Amino acid sequence: MLTEHGLGTGMLRDGSTHGTCAFRDEGGEFELRYDRLGSGERHTVYPQHRLVTDLVEEYLARGGELRFGVTVTDVDAETATVGFRDEHGKTGQVSARFLAGCDGSNGATRKAVPAPAHCARDHGISWLAVLAEAPQSMPAVTYALHERGFAGHMARSPTVTRYYLQVPPGDDAAAWTDERIWTELAVRMRTGEFGALRQGPVTERRIVRLRSDVVDPLRHGRLFLVGDAASLISPSAAKGANLAIMAAEVLAAALTDALLRDDEQALAAYSRTCLPRIWRAQEFSHWMIGLLHDQAGAGSFGSALRRTRLDNLRESRAHQDFFAENYVGI
Ligand SMILES: Cc1cc2nc3c(=O)[nH]c(=O)nc-3n(C[C@H](O)[C@H](O)[C@H](O)COP(=O)(O)OP(=O)(O)OC[C@H]3O[C@@H](n4cnc5c(N)ncnc54)[C@H](O)[C@@H]3O)c2cc1C
Repeated sequence: MLTEHGLGTGMLRDGSTHGTCAFRDEGGEFELRYDRLGSGERHTVYPQHRLVTDLVEEYLARGGELRFGVTVTDVDAETATVGFRDEHGKTGQVSARFLAGCDGSNGATRKAVPAPAHCARDHGISWLAVLAEAPQSMPAVTYALHERGFAGHMARSPTVTRYYLQVPPGDDAAAWTDERIWTELAVRMRTGEFGALRQGPVTERRIVRLRSDVVDPLRHGRLFLVGDAASLISPSAAKGANLAIMAAEVLAAALTDALLRDDEQALAAYSRTCLPRIWRAQEFSHWMIGLLHDQAGAGSFGSALRRTRLDNLRESRAHQDFFAENYVGI
């Protein structure tokens, strides 16, 4: 999609493609070549702040204007009202026939939607999300399952790697010193068996609560919700930004029909078009949570189910195809 719209230059130049991931637990390590399974697709890894920079630059170059501190009212009226500040702090207001709510899960547009439209779940699991100035330690995205909790390894660029550590809900990120992070990662990644991690300074550490929700419908009067504003998804399957771009593409085409051809059919179908894809991603993301974590209160029965899910993935081609199709293919 990005390439079709002339927005993929940075991603094609500096992104990297991945077709393999690996799983580790007490039974050893196995690799999944998902580019040889399912639909045979690969991931492109390109840091999100770089993508946002590319999009903002291109938007400004094409004559777009940036506004801040947006407020939204009257979404059910003939025209919605949008208040804002410009870059000099001057306030203003516009009337909107159509309003795309792309301001994330805590933005103004969500607050304009009545609460009963939200369908939410807190998974009761928290991750410490870490960015380290260190090259990747393993050739592939690696998911480590351990009795002390999940740990993840994801290359972000040649010099930056993301790690995740499952931590108790309510834990304080500041209590995780660099040394404590590397020590815990070493235990859960079983470095004694699989080799040491390439360490470097931790540049970001923050607690991410695994939460998911969907706003249904995605249209409220003049307002169309997109991305995290429409549906927050836990990062367990790395789907959020992909869903945001999917919905933006669908909405952009529908707005083009409405504004250039006076045809609002696609706009009327916006929610119906996007929601099944959002729910498919939510379902897989939820499945991944069950694969990577022991559920609180599920006891030894829950742990055995989790291990069996991983064994199925290790041994069964049908389970591997399911994984590959959902991991990259939605
Ligand atoms: C730890 C972590 C890892 C992730 N990894 C991946 C991954 O690997 N792959 C993937 O696909 N997704 C991933 N995601 C999800 C992804 O980051 C989000 O789904 C994505 O950022 C959603 O994009 P968005 O544009 O809808 O919202 P956002 O990125 O939240 O952007 C919303 C923007 O609106 C602005 N805004 C908010 N309120 C206002 C206001 N009132 N006025 C003006 N501006 C406002 C905000 O400042 C922000 O710039 C991850 C998320 C987390 C937390």
